[in-house]
Amino acid sequence: MTRIFYTKPSITDLEKKYAADAVDTGWGAKCYDYINRFEALFADYLGVKYAIATSSCTGALQMGLAALGVGKGDEVILADTNWIATAAPILHLGAKPIFVDILPDTWCLDPAQVEARITPRTKAIVATHIYGNLCDMDALLSISERYKIAVIEDAAEAIGSSNRDRKAGSMGLFGTFSFHGTKTVTTGEGGMFVTNDAELFEKVLTLSNHGRARGQTRQFWPDVIGFKFKMSNVQAAIGCGQIERIEELVGRKREILSLYKDKLGTLSDVFLNPEHAETINGAWMPTVVLSERLGITTKNLQEAFQEADVDARVFFHPLSSLPMFEKHCENANLYNLNAWSIPQRAINLPSYHDMSSDDIDRVSNVVLDLVSRRR
Ligand SMILES: *Cc1c(COP(=O)(O)O)cnc(C)c1O
Repeated sequence: MTRIFYTKPSITDLEKKYAADAVDTGWGAKCYDYINRFEALFADYLGVKYAIATSSCTGALQMGLAALGVGKGDEVILADTNWIATAAPILHLGAKPIFVDILPDTWCLDPAQVEARITPRTKAIVATHIYGNLCDMDALLSISERYKIAVIEDAAEAIGSSNRDRKAGSMGLFGTFSFHGTKTVTTGEGGMFVTNDAELFEKVLTLSNHGRARGQTRQFWPDVIGFKFKMSNVQAAIGCGQIERIEELVGRKREILSLYKDKLGTLSDVFLNPEHAETINGAWMPTVVLSERLGITTKNLQEAFQEADVDARVFFHPLSSLPMFEKHCENANLYNLNAWSIPQRAINLPSYHDMSSDDIDRVSNVVLDLVSRRR
């Protein structure tokens, strides 16, 4: 029996061909060719006007928030259930993160909680589409309009997710993506900033290049203090191959989630990533959440998976439970109830492109066995 890993990228001869070409010829006058192509392919896929390739999603978020003017004294609302990458840029810019609870079915921001936590200092709302599940963007965009507060999307986990033909990442004022090795589309490390706002695009483009504006004719002349969060041409070459295969990559993710749902989705008290009416779930990470009633803990799940030699990941800890955020949100366990409760009875399932049906059966059986023993 071999170990089943939870994620592995899918790299074919296409990506290898482009990467080798970038290494051979992508220098000097051609050093931006694959970057330009990757950005154009990505913008076209997402249906947005502008895309800027970055070194990471974290970097894209930091530049976007900086371009919005987020800084000292400002508050930014986000879900308590998040990877720390979504919160760190807020703190680096000197602003305060406000962690709100998630909905029990999508595990994403609860719009009612968002509205309740708005203050005169609220500068932005970050909608993270967790594990491919979509936030309720209609509700969040309505809040954005009523309060004149920007809603932005951390779509790192949601490539391929959409709501009524609007792709995740294209609905807010700007969106960010990650191409880390564990994500559906990978360039090793990397990210993307996308927007339809021309002014914001110019600001982030300038910030991304150490503050050097596009129209600036003086050489080595930064107009503002910026960042150096750019992607290399070789990484972009791999990204071009991945985007040409995007339907295949997302299609397989969706197929794997659907196979898990066939096996586990019909059990009562067992919940997987939802797909609500008029939405498509890009299914980045199939996740099982058990109802409290079953009495099966994450620790029980981890031990069972360990025994079966299956690599499974814990559901995100609430950010408010991490020591560095304690002073920002005392007693968050008393109000962010779902964000604190769900991780105690949930697990992410393996979902890499090349896993076999037998692998999926083996993983499913671990959950099936545990659940059936409790009945
Ligand atoms: C992976 C991830 C990030 C970070 O992406 P990097 O490219 O590693 O910076 C940010 N937000 C979410 C929700 C993620 O899943």
